[in-house]
Amino acid sequence: MASIKENLENVTAQLPSGVRLVAVSKFHPVEELAEAYEAGQRLFGENRAQELIAKAPQLPDDIRWHFIGHLQKNKVRAIMPHVSVIESVDSVKLLELIEKEAARIDRKVDVLLQLHVAQEETKSGFSVEELLEAGENGLLTCYDHVRVCGLMAMASLTDDMEQVAQEFDLVRRTYLILKDGCFDDCAEFFELSMGMSDDWQVAVKYGATLVRIGTAIFGPRSY
Ligand SMILES: *Cc1c(COP(=O)(O)O)cnc(C)c1O
Repeated sequence: MASIKENLENVTAQLPSGVRLVAVSKFHPVEELAEAYEAGQRLFGENRAQELIAKAPQLPDDIRWHFIGHLQKNKVRAIMPHVSVIESVDSVKLLELIEKEAARIDRKVDVLLQLHVAQEETKSGFSVEELLEAGENGLLTCYDHVRVCGLMAMASLTDDMEQVAQEFDLVRRTYLILKDGCFDDCAEFFELSMGMSDDWQVAVKYGATLVRIGTAIFGPRSY
């Protein structure tokens, strides 16, 4: 089996310039994250608040942590000191709460808005309609401590890459509408976080700037 370092090198060698890798380290022990860090990786993704809070203090502080899971409102305060980007903002209410908590500790936090494009109901995120409506109502752009930097999405869990491509294309088109409509003069609205171990090549074709890859780097997770 290839080492974490070899896996990282293999993935990063295939990424076009301008596409950054979030190494999704959920369910993997800090020793494995340290191995990735030693190999040069600085961007990590976690999807559970408790796990992020436990791991972050054990690792070097130049790591940038992306939160990528469903974020419960009562966990926002706890992750705030650790996260660099909250990728999984799935409601205006959550956005408002993040603003409040960021203001409380006087920091700015970058967020992505999660768009629901997959067939599975269980995945969270704004629907396209909800997101465009929130944009039209000025609810995405009125924050002092939150920078909305783009969109995040997961495609359906399927082998049908045509389906996956359509979903990523929908994310890209929704991004462009928002960019034109409400983030027009806003240079920081440029991120499209999409693509995981099995579909990141497709995501890159549709304009991903961040790919979130776990299994292809750290191997299978033992839950
Ligand atoms: C786990 C996870 C990933 C990584 O999935 P892999 O298939 O292991 O690459 C990416 N994004 C999110 C939101 C995740 O929860």
